[in-house]
Amino acid sequence: PTLVTKEEIGLTRRQVRIVLRNSGVINPESIEEYIANGGFEGLSKALSEMTPEDVIKEIKESGLRGRGGAGFPAGLKWEFTYKIPSDEKYVVCNADEGEPGTFKDRLILEGDPFRIVEAMTIAGYAVGAKKGYIYIRGEYKLSIERMQKAINTAREYGLLGENILGTNFSFDIEVRKGAGAYICGEETALIESLEGKRGIPRIKPPYPVSQGLRNKPTVVNNVETLANVPDIIRNGAKWFRQFGTEKCPGTKVYTILGDVVNAGLIEVEMGTPLRDIIFQYGGGIKNGGKFKCALVGGAAGAFLGEEMLDVKMDFENLKEYKAVLGSGAILVMSDGACIVDMLKSILRFFKHESCGRCTPCRVGTKRLVEIIERFASLEGTEEDLDEMVNISLVMKDTSFCPLGQSVYLPVSSAVKYFREEFVSHFKDKYCVSGRCKPRLSL
Ligand code: NAD
Ligand code: SF4
Repeated sequence: PTLVTKEEIGLTRRQVRIVLRNSGVINPESIEEYIANGGFEGLSKALSEMTPEDVIKEIKESGLRGRGGAGFPAGLKWEFTYKIPSDEKYVVCNADEGEPGTFKDRLILEGDPFRIVEAMTIAGYAVGAKKGYIYIRGEYKLSIERMQKAINTAREYGLLGENILGTNFSFDIEVRKGAGAYICGEETALIESLEGKRGIPRIKPPYPVSQGLRNKPTVVNNVETLANVPDIIRNGAKWFRQFGTEKCPGTKVYTILGDVVNAGLIEVEMGTPLRDIIFQYGGGIKNGGKFKCALVGGAAGAFLGEEMLDVKMDFENLKEYKAVLGSGAILVMSDGACIVDMLKSILRFFKHESCGRCTPCRVGTKRLVEIIERFASLEGTEEDLDEMVNISLVMKDTSFCPLGQSVYLPVSSAVKYFREEFVSHFKDKYCVSGRCKPRLSL
C-alpha cells in the first residue's frame, strides 16, 4: 500500500484528515471510488499477511483510544475479547450519537460508510467474531441508508459474508436503528436495546468485552474510533503515531458551533490548542464579538474561559483542567451570550433524557431544572447556587451511569467561573443576552 505522509494529509484544507480523508472527496455510495482511494487494503493486508494477534498488536502499538469520549485503549479492548474463549462473539459499532452539538459520527457514516464496514470486519477478524451490529441513531436517516447500501454492496463484492476474499474468515453486519433515547448511547443500554429490551444501563463490571450482547464477549467501539482502524492497519502503527501526542496519538474530529464565524466539523491532531480550534479553524467570534467561554465536550463537558484557551486538547491535558474531551463538541459563547440560559438548556436536556432508573439522577435532574429556572426568571438566591453544585456533586458520586454523573461538570464549572453572572440575575435583575425574563404573573 502507498504510505500517506503527514505532509500529504496536512495539505487537505490545513487539517490533518485521517477519518475524514474520503468524506466529501469520494462518492460515498461507490465502492470503486473507496477502493481506488486505498479502501479495503487494510482488510486485505490483515487477512493475507497478519494473524489476529498481529492486528491487535498493531492497534495496541498505535495507541488508538476510544473516541466516543472515554478514551479507553482500543487495542486493549480487542485483546480482552480475543482472549476469552467463546464460539460466539460480537462487534458492535456505537453510532447512537446523541450528545448535544455532536454530529461527527453522522458525517463519517454519510461521507465514508465503506470505511466502517472495513473497520468492523477487521475488528471481527481480530477478536474472532462472525457477526457485527451497527446501532445508528434513528434520526440519522441518510447514515442508515448509506450504511445499509454499503453493507449490501460489500456482500456483492465478497467483502462481507462467507469466506471473505477467499479466506476461511466469515463476517456479516446488520444495521439496527435507535428509537430516540440518549441513554441508548451508553454501551450497556445499547446492548439491552439490541436484545430487544428497554434501553437501561447494566452494572459494570462485567464489561461488554467479557459479557456483552447475549452475555457473550463483545467489542463496542464508537464510529470515529473504528474509522481510524483501516488506515492504521494499512500504514502501520508508526505512521499513526506521527500524529497527535505521545499519550493520545492520532487526530480528533470536533464539531464547532455557537458564536463562531465558521461553524462545522474539523479534524485536527490531538494536542491542538483550543485557541487554534476556535480562532484559526473556527475563524474567531462572529459579528465582532469577544470570546466569553466554550463548553467543551458536549452537554456533559465543562465551560472553559479565556484563561484556558491555550489548553492542548487531548484526553490527558484536559484532565489537568478538570475538563473532558468527551464527544468533541465545542460550543463557543461570545460576551453577549448568557451562561444561565445555556445551563438551563443543558439541565432540561438531562432531565428529559434521564431514564429514571436511579433516584439521584431521576430526582436530581428535576431539582436542578427547578433551580435554574428560578435564575432564568431573574429570581433565586446565593443558597440556590450552592445547592445546585451540591446536588450535582451527589449525582456525580451516586448515580448509576455516566448520564447522571456527568451533570456535575457543566454545573460546577458554570458556577465556579461565572458566579457573578448568576448573582446579577437575581440581585440586579440583569441578563446580558436579554433572554432571561421575569415570570409572567396573572
Ligand atoms: P467508561 O470509562 O466506563 O468505559 C469506556 C470504554 O472502555 C467502555 O467501552 C468500557 O466497556 C471499556 N472499559 C472500561 N474499563 C474497562 C475494563 N477494566 N475492562 C474492559 N473494558 C473496560 O466510559 P463510558 O461510560 O463507556 O463512556 C463515557 C463517555 O461517553 C464520556 O466520556 C462521555 O463524554 C461520552 N459520551 C459520548 C456521547 C456521544 O454522543 N459520543 C454521548 C454521551 C456521552
Ligand atoms: Fe438512568 Fe440517570 Fe440512573 Fe443513568 S444515572 S441509570 S440515566 S436514572
